[in-house]
Amino acid sequence: MDTILVVNAGSSSVKFQVFGVDVNGALQRLIKGQIDGIGTKPRLVAEASDKSSLVNKPYAPDMIPDVPAAIAAVAGWLRETQTFNLVAVGHRVVHGGPEYDRPVAIDHAVVANLDRYVSLAPLHQPNNLAPIRTLLTARPELLQVACFDTAFHRGHSTIADHFAIPENLYAEGVRRYGFHGLSYEYVAERLREIAPARATGRVIVAHLGSGASMCALANGRSVESTMGFTALDGIPMGTRPGQLDPGVVLYLLTEKGMSPAALQDLLYRDSGLKGLSGISNDMRDLESNSDPKAAFAVDYFVYRVGLNAGMLAAALGGLDAFVFTAGIGENSATIRARIAEKLTWFGVAFDAAANAAGEPLISRPESRVALYVVPTDEELMIARHTLALLPKRSARGMAGERLAS
Ligand code: AMP
Repeated sequence: MDTILVVNAGSSSVKFQVFGVDVNGALQRLIKGQIDGIGTKPRLVAEASDKSSLVNKPYAPDMIPDVPAAIAAVAGWLRETQTFNLVAVGHRVVHGGPEYDRPVAIDHAVVANLDRYVSLAPLHQPNNLAPIRTLLTARPELLQVACFDTAFHRGHSTIADHFAIPENLYAEGVRRYGFHGLSYEYVAERLREIAPARATGRVIVAHLGSGASMCALANGRSVESTMGFTALDGIPMGTRPGQLDPGVVLYLLTEKGMSPAALQDLLYRDSGLKGLSGISNDMRDLESNSDPKAAFAVDYFVYRVGLNAGMLAAALGGLDAFVFTAGIGENSATIRARIAEKLTWFGVAFDAAANAAGEPLISRPESRVALYVVPTDEELMIARHTLALLPKRSARGMAGERLAS
């Protein structure tokens, strides 16, 4: 069977999925796996579509010291144990800069362009590019497609794209990009299927995971995001603060003498739910902990999501639907209920029973704003984009594709 490999390379893990492509262009998820603990406690795990385990293998740290070594291990395992025909690889790439507003087939010129954006996302972009480079050398004939977290937001107005700082900085790329674009694109498509009338209106999607942001959609297109130049801005996350007065950063630099590296650690690893609670970055831990500090972190999260909903509704000039997605949004009925309460003034009539039962529609029929829970699927979005760029299948495009599993 022809297959597409989807690669999502982070700082200490490489996630991958394998999708089969049948003769009708249908995508079928075959394998989902990852190597985490790169350089410390590497372990390769993978499961089949029926959730049965395919591999669970630890490695010595020096065998998998970095992302390229992890990719080599995944490729080796796939080669040795699987018999499918790899036709393309789709990569999640965090930053497409001002230039890329859609996925692109990768060649050396594209890699050189994407290298320029390393300074815009120093923690993520080099890891995203590492497997691309490895494969470009090992399998130059293989189609590789870069799918950007920023691309879905590139249609923002010039006003939404700006900070109020000197224009030369905008020209060199200091812009409000927005992230989680693959998730929002998938949810926008899914909403068109499950609620076509609402999907053409004014919609806020709340991607609430360990990284979290919110996006305003007008007729399925992103018009505003809570995230900006980096994935630090907006609502609080597991370990990132969300919106922060830049004066705080100046204070830490000048008064506290923090180094840029220490500051980076504080903002990316020690803030957010973890920093506020001093207990955990994981919402499950906080929800089950009776310590008032855990409750405070949860209260803060809910409060900031509500505040940002008001901001995004202002960008949209009103609101027709609000969608929960990602780890917290999909799984925590309690957090959804608490956020819904903050949306009451929009005319939300919450359906507590539907919410507790895990229904996709969690507002009552008379609700002026409909509330939905839509599980996201960034990997499927990447597979769709990659499939659409496969030359022999391009005529069929995405319209003929369906997920068979
Ligand atoms: P993600 O980054 O989308 O995988 O989301 C990960 C986060 O979702 C975790 O850090 C948890 O805080 C949260 N999460 C997952 N399941 C639950 C749950 N059942 N209740 C509350 N939070 C959850």
